[in-house]
Amino acid sequence: MDQERNHHLNPHQMALKQVEIAAAHMDLDPGILAKIMATEKEITVHFPVKMDDGQVRIFTGYRVQHNDTRGPYKGGIRYHPEVDADEVRALAMWMTWKAAVVNIPFGGAKGGVQCYPKEMSAREMENMTRRFTWELHTFIGPERDIPAPDVYTNPKVMAWIMDTYSILKGHVVPGVVTGKPLELGGSLGRFEATGRGVFVTAAQAAALLDLPLAGARVVIQGAGNVGGVAAAQFAAAGARVVAISDSKGGLYNEKGLDVEQALACKNRYQCFLSEHVPAREVTNEELLTLPCDILVPCALGGVIHAGNADYIQARIIAEGANGPTTPQADAVLRGRGVFVVPDILANAGGVTVSYFEWVQNLQNLLWSEQEIAQRLEGIMRGAFAEVHRISRERGVDMRTAALILGIGRVAAAVRLRGIYP
Ligand code: GLU
Repeated sequence: MDQERNHHLNPHQMALKQVEIAAAHMDLDPGILAKIMATEKEITVHFPVKMDDGQVRIFTGYRVQHNDTRGPYKGGIRYHPEVDADEVRALAMWMTWKAAVVNIPFGGAKGGVQCYPKEMSAREMENMTRRFTWELHTFIGPERDIPAPDVYTNPKVMAWIMDTYSILKGHVVPGVVTGKPLELGGSLGRFEATGRGVFVTAAQAAALLDLPLAGARVVIQGAGNVGGVAAAQFAAAGARVVAISDSKGGLYNEKGLDVEQALACKNRYQCFLSEHVPAREVTNEELLTLPCDILVPCALGGVIHAGNADYIQARIIAEGANGPTTPQADAVLRGRGVFVVPDILANAGGVTVSYFEWVQNLQNLLWSEQEIAQRLEGIMRGAFAEVHRISRERGVDMRTAALILGIGRVAAAVRLRGIYP
């Protein structure tokens, strides 16, 4: 019955369901639980953009600020045709728990514009980004809410946000966004951070399961900033990346792919199919159930669901994407003994280095790449160990343990600040 209800959960309902599951293992005051399940502010804007053909098109954009009890709101902005209010609400809530799991002083937010980024020119993207920034400018800021890249946004988009916001303020404000180009106050190591964190936590899971990384078969969904970097990291550690995909489909070779070659091809579908890369073509759906040891979903949410969880062959799933696994699939995977490193832990490397970037911007400091890599690795390892300890002590899976940790920290902060007035 419960499982049937799960079937049609939208991302926000999915995020709320996860909180319910974790809260059942916690002794939370009902008022505090209600407070942290609610989003604090939801901004929806419909704004005009002048397109290359001279026409004006109206776009819909969102910024959902879930919770800022522990620090300013933090979270990316995505450009995607499927962006809607419920997806952004879920993503904002996951940012709150994620920042708390790695114990950085941020709250959670997320934004998005419903659009087809692949069909837009650079000029149209810039116009859309600048107007969206104008629409949001009274709600964001280095001490208020700090956007960052997410699906189909990148350092270039962050530069436009930073420029527009700075013009509106009358002085340069680098700390208003993270994930900026290095030349504009971006941090060394930020681009690699999410993929690096996914690799580090997956490697910790492999060590726990006595699975040697050398020769381990890894399947990666997504070849962008997260999947592409993670693939390179696994390959460098001697793992066999047997499959990787982009939004159109993937490549599979059971003996292992040449990751560099496969990534160089990812934007040219013809090359994907050519004889230069010895591999078989697979769909994104098929890719998830390929024989492998570690599955690394790094694309969109909801891809591991009731319909395919039974067929997943991996021993470890490291979630580079946000919300790739539905609660119903979680139950199936738990029953089958699959070790899931949940999104709010596995992909927290991005927001962690965003925090380093913000700290450097506020203090006009420059940290070395080595310093950033060491701090990131320390935080990811520490968070993994803490989540795993809770998982063992309470007899719960890693997602529930991560939620217990994250929600517990936010709830403690709410309790201390109190409910005003
Ligand atoms: N979009 C990334 C995430 O989902 C990074 C967010 C940030 O750096 O603020 O974690």
